[in-house]
Amino acid sequence: MRFVETNGLLTPELLITTTQDPVKISKIPQILTPELNLHYPFTNELQTHLQGKQLLLDELPFSLSQLYEHYLNGYISFRKGILNQNKILNCTRCGNEDPALFASFDCARCHTHCNYCRKCITMGRISECTPLISWTGPESSFPPPDQILTWSGTLSQGQQTASDKVVEAIQNNSNLLVWAVCGAGKTEVLFKGIETALYSKKNVCIATPRTDVVIELAPRIKDSFNTIDVIALYGGSEDRTKTAPITITTTHQLLRYYQAFDVIIIDEVDAFPYSVEPMLQYAVEQAKKKNSTTINLTATPNQQWQRELKKGTRPTVTIPARYHRHPLPVPQFKWCGNWRKHLKKDKLPPTLLGWINFHLSINKQGFLFVPRIDLLEQIVIILKKLNNRIEGVHAEDPFRKEKVTSFRKGEIPILVTTTILERGVTVPNIDVAVLGSEDQIFTESALVQISGRVGRSAKYPTGDIIFYHYGKTKAMLAAKRQIQNMNKEAVEQNLLN
Ligand SMILES: [Zn+2]
Ligand SMILES: [Zn+2]
Repeated sequence: MRFVETNGLLTPELLITTTQDPVKISKIPQILTPELNLHYPFTNELQTHLQGKQLLLDELPFSLSQLYEHYLNGYISFRKGILNQNKILNCTRCGNEDPALFASFDCARCHTHCNYCRKCITMGRISECTPLISWTGPESSFPPPDQILTWSGTLSQGQQTASDKVVEAIQNNSNLLVWAVCGAGKTEVLFKGIETALYSKKNVCIATPRTDVVIELAPRIKDSFNTIDVIALYGGSEDRTKTAPITITTTHQLLRYYQAFDVIIIDEVDAFPYSVEPMLQYAVEQAKKKNSTTINLTATPNQQWQRELKKGTRPTVTIPARYHRHPLPVPQFKWCGNWRKHLKKDKLPPTLLGWINFHLSINKQGFLFVPRIDLLEQIVIILKKLNNRIEGVHAEDPFRKEKVTSFRKGEIPILVTTTILERGVTVPNIDVAVLGSEDQIFTESALVQISGRVGRSAKYPTGDIIFYHYGKTKAMLAAKRQIQNMNKEAVEQNLLN
């Protein structure tokens, strides 16, 4: 799309009545949005579709003249999709500024060689002649029903303390880190805060890097707030064009949002790919309103955050104990020699083999974490000779879901896995072993998450976690220390039985 600009005001190429030559939007120095005309009868459907978003023309099922009229009356804004300042390109939607992640093509829309962003191309191509369109009119508001929170459970003492802090942060538009150990029950900690937000007509977004979490969380949130509209967004979800007081979404889908949320909660903030992908962190920054609350939730904050917490520069509340009031199982370290050498001879280190045989003999299930897929495949072949029902699972395994389900049903005695199952999978009464815990894939946070698989249910609150290693690493020591510190803090706060 090309525009003609007069005193900062844009006219789309197709609606031009003058003889002025249109140019692509990236060439226009300054773009104004006219003052809001309060008497203009704006279209409600457009408001619902566009508020809090930043969309491309192709994503809007409205005519150009309808959009233009809303622009002239101050209800929508056009921003440059790609900034081009002295040939330095910058994508407004995803924050990309890496020259290697831009490309150019002969563009039929602006009839020039047009640069586009490759980084966010899965959300629709954004090029130098693409306007990003947002709503600048009033927001539709929802009258809160008498009862918002329909959940009637009770919180543990640790959860209650954190819940109070969440409410306070939302009331004050301030930020908070909730550091809750694996199995603390962090979702319930949000409920009062969400209710507080909705009563004051603030909208809430729960974002997470992982689609699995969106799918698991959505029904729980719907049940707990059953008078409120809740939408769930992930690649392929049907709620994409809807707006609701509560949005649950992958961080990726936030690329379509702009200054949308009063409260944004990021669950599993340390999970891949959010922790290593600046685009997703940019998306969160863009999606929240200027005056808003960000609540980060994690069981394993990174080193920097831990340091800021100690210095007191990052407001944090910790839940150091599980809801069932038993301490976290502490990992044991067991040296197993050069296990790769054993594997070359198609053998496992004897001490690990002892662990496997013991679990098979007492019929207790276990996860065995290993560093890599090729090793996993080899280990599974060795173990199937001991027991044919032993299985392995990894990220590219097409039967991943089925195998996890069979494991839950008790049909698989030992499930060998890569770090793919370090989070989210809760199976009662299991032990966990890690082979090669010195491998660099096992970071401090991965090892804490893996240890967190043990003893989660109130019925089986204990279990063993063993790191079989060929030399201790800093990450192993830090993970153990972190778990011990949380147990100590839990004792001090009287959160354990
Ligand atoms: Zn173009
Ligand atoms: Zn981009």
